[in-house]
Amino acid sequence: MTTTEEKQYKILLIGDSDVGKTSIVKRFSDDEFKEDLLCTIGVEFKMKSLNIDDQNITLCIWDTAGQEKFRALISSYYRGAHGIILTYDVTKRETFNNLQYWLNEIESFSTRSDVVMLLVGNKIDKENREVSREEGAEFAKKKAMLFIEASAKTKMGIQQAFEELAHKILETP
Ligand code: GDP
Ligand code: MG
Repeated sequence: MTTTEEKQYKILLIGDSDVGKTSIVKRFSDDEFKEDLLCTIGVEFKMKSLNIDDQNITLCIWDTAGQEKFRALISSYYRGAHGIILTYDVTKRETFNNLQYWLNEIESFSTRSDVVMLLVGNKIDKENREVSREEGAEFAKKKAMLFIEASAKTKMGIQQAFEELAHKILETP
């Protein structure tokens, strides 16, 4: 029996520390965990298969191991990424204000001009919101990013986030 080769896409998570990047990946990937040599450079990644538009694809999701705290993500983290999930915490305005910093990093290090970007406003289950949905949507529109609000805690928006990103990647010529 032959196995069909599934297309693989590299997806990154970036954004300030504590916004919920790792929680988003864990929630989405359902504890399918794979550690590999990449961990030696302080990156974890998880593989997750998805069926999008009648195609089976595999997402290789790269998550930082805390280096973003020091704004020290190395350029190889970005290399070859098909999709980037830029995350902020809707209850912490500072993390929203810092989005431009991360966009500058993407601009400097991304090796693909057609990289698909998705902005995620996370932690919408919390009550002390500091960034409105409209502000998030407007910023995303201005920067040509997809946008979704989500909660890694309640699952809200998480599956949809990855599906929309994958859909857009497949659509990109
Ligand atoms: P990272 O540093 O961006 O990877 O953030 P983590 O995933 O480590 O999450 C930081 C903290 O926020 C942890 O205490 C999580 O439990 C919490 N957290 C993450 N996502 C959510 C969410 O959607 N809702 C709530 N209430 N807490 C969250
Ligand atoms: Mg993390």
